[in-house]
Amino acid sequence: MKVKQLCISSYKPPVQSQNWAQSLFLNLYRCNSQQISRHLHRLKVNKVVKGGQSFIFGEEKVGLAVGVKGSCYNAGGEVARRARQYGFGTVVLSQNELNLKETSQVISGLIQANYKYKLLGDVAQEKQQSDENNDQYSYIQELHVQENIFEDPYFQQLVQLAQIKLYARDLANTRQEGTPQFFINEVKKLFKDNPNVEIQILEGKQLQECQLNLFYAVGQGSIHPPTLINLTYRGNKNSQELHALVGKGITFDTGGLHLKSYGHMENMYLDKSGACNVLAAFKGAVDMKLKVNVTVTLGMAENAISNTSYNPSNILKSHKGLTVEINNTDAEGRLVLADCLSWTQATYNPTTIVEISTLTGSCKAALGGNTGGLFSNNDKLSQELLEIGKELQEPFWRMPVTDEHQDMMKGKFADLCNTGKSKICGASKAAAFLFNFVDDKIPFAHLDIAGPKESKTDKGIYPLGATGFGTQVLLKYLLNKQE
Ligand SMILES: [Zn+2]
Repeated sequence: MKVKQLCISSYKPPVQSQNWAQSLFLNLYRCNSQQISRHLHRLKVNKVVKGGQSFIFGEEKVGLAVGVKGSCYNAGGEVARRARQYGFGTVVLSQNELNLKETSQVISGLIQANYKYKLLGDVAQEKQQSDENNDQYSYIQELHVQENIFEDPYFQQLVQLAQIKLYARDLANTRQEGTPQFFINEVKKLFKDNPNVEIQILEGKQLQECQLNLFYAVGQGSIHPPTLINLTYRGNKNSQELHALVGKGITFDTGGLHLKSYGHMENMYLDKSGACNVLAAFKGAVDMKLKVNVTVTLGMAENAISNTSYNPSNILKSHKGLTVEINNTDAEGRLVLADCLSWTQATYNPTTIVEISTLTGSCKAALGGNTGGLFSNNDKLSQELLEIGKELQEPFWRMPVTDEHQDMMKGKFADLCNTGKSKICGASKAAAFLFNFVDDKIPFAHLDIAGPKESKTDKGIYPLGATGFGTQVLLKYLLNKQE
């Protein structure tokens, strides 16, 4: 969707619609205001539609009056749905009672909900054709806003953040085509000719040669070689600071020999969401030419089942040198991440590390589908991320890592084990495991998005499928780190 500056005197509806009525005129009001009832009276509205925390008060072909209460983002999401329902390709924000911040959030929500994954690969062409003939899939193509909003930096930033989140969804929603090789191709396509971006790739046996044995073991059962992708962008050559992002990219998680059961495996193409969000945030930082130095590491592997899969009981030596006994092959994400974290530190000695992953069902059990878990060794970094998340409606909740959790992850025959014996506090135990691979002196945050990675309903700011939850937090974090 293109966001344009509206010039009402020269505004022309898009070519495909030859009359004004096919552009949707959007009027945003505060809830319960006098104006909205006057407006509704004028439109002769007889229907009140309730959607999310926003209330859409009425519509006819000429316009939509939206009373905004609660989340501005969700109100925007409902606008997108309503526009789609009536097949409006163009939306013009004409009346507006909200302030700049609220308006920006409504439009961010509108962009986030105005999304459908375009299939890639073999099945794509046929399907796309049938979609194009189907009105149900007409999405907003253009949004026009007044000059004072269009030129506002907060507005522009929210639009950029929302758009980059859609790219994260494009990556995460890939199915069988979303292999480690797909991600190699993608980063080459994006950055090969960019002199400000360095690309490093360790593929298959190269991981073993560099002692990333945990990472290699997770991917060794797949025909798609496990791959570490590292990208470094130096936007501020005068600064010594370098911020690292690390993402879990399990392209499909069968659980390995501890095979997942029916009902628990079908959406496991989304187990790469962390890496997808990191790649998207990195692309955002490069596109926006941020004055910040950033290195990102994506741990891409398929946890497959075959005669070469790694076994429970294996004792493996990590990149850091700590040995790990495998209790459960389905606790693979932490193995990939452990080596990615330790390799990133050894290679770059970064100033801070933020890692994001769909790590534990336990985190989803604790926090549900709208909130991510945050674990950190640093109060300041935690606070920073919590505040950004709240502002952007990608909320996180801080959870503990205690000595109790650390003790549970000690191995009997090795330094560590990968799940521990008891079935309790899985999210904190996973975080405790990762803490072993990070230098205490480096501010580190682990973000567990196992809950909010996916939307199972078309509601609020999320359509069905991958949400991209956390992408905006990562990019805004980098925006704030500019010197
Ligand atoms: Zn798993």
